[in-house]
Amino acid sequence: MKQKETMLNTKENNAHHDDDANDQSIFSMDTPLRADAFELDDDLKIELIEKHFKEIMLILGLDLNDDSLSGTPHRVAKMYVKEMFKGLNPENIPAVKLFENKYQYKNMLVEKNISFHSVCEHHFVPITGKAHVAYIPNGKVVGLSKLNRIVRYFAQRPQVQERMTIQIANMLKETLGTNDVAVLIEADHMCVAMRGVQDITSSTVTAEYSGKFLDIKTREEFIRMVTLEK
Ligand SMILES: [Zn+2]
Repeated sequence: MKQKETMLNTKENNAHHDDDANDQSIFSMDTPLRADAFELDDDLKIELIEKHFKEIMLILGLDLNDDSLSGTPHRVAKMYVKEMFKGLNPENIPAVKLFENKYQYKNMLVEKNISFHSVCEHHFVPITGKAHVAYIPNGKVVGLSKLNRIVRYFAQRPQVQERMTIQIANMLKETLGTNDVAVLIEADHMCVAMRGVQDITSSTVTAEYSGKFLDIKTREEFIRMVTLEK
């Protein structure tokens, strides 16, 4: 256990950075990660988080002998590593297969109302929202569900909405081989609803446009398609 603790306390060391890191790592670079972020495997992470979460509960005065609470530290640890923060690990990046654009479809494709759950990195409480993404095909097209998976991948880590918006746009550009992408996200931040100003009606909207979407007409078409009733 002593050794595990040391590992967690290791100061960030740039020499640890993998020079031969695969291309996928560029997508996680914007999230501030320690150089040793993936030296511990998932099982060890769960074990350590469980221990520390138990401490938090004990400090709050909760009785961990109670049936209802006794399994909570393990449940929380497993949920953090395997679900809520799964997208921190580049190993979990969705595999995106591209297809030939057989139909010569040249217009924008909009995948809208992609619902996601994320976690605010300042308070560790939920962000829930919808993402609308669009691209204009450049020779290749992508399976539609992959667009949802890319959104989910970046949602499953502690986030700020602005960064998440840009990360999704960057990955779309990279995988689709085009700069013509748009990402629009509307989300509710529980840290705004539950604490501080306790505003339950406000929501946060962020957008990232590039390539042809910088053109006002293209952008307006995108917004129109997003707001179109089914
Ligand atoms: Zn927050």
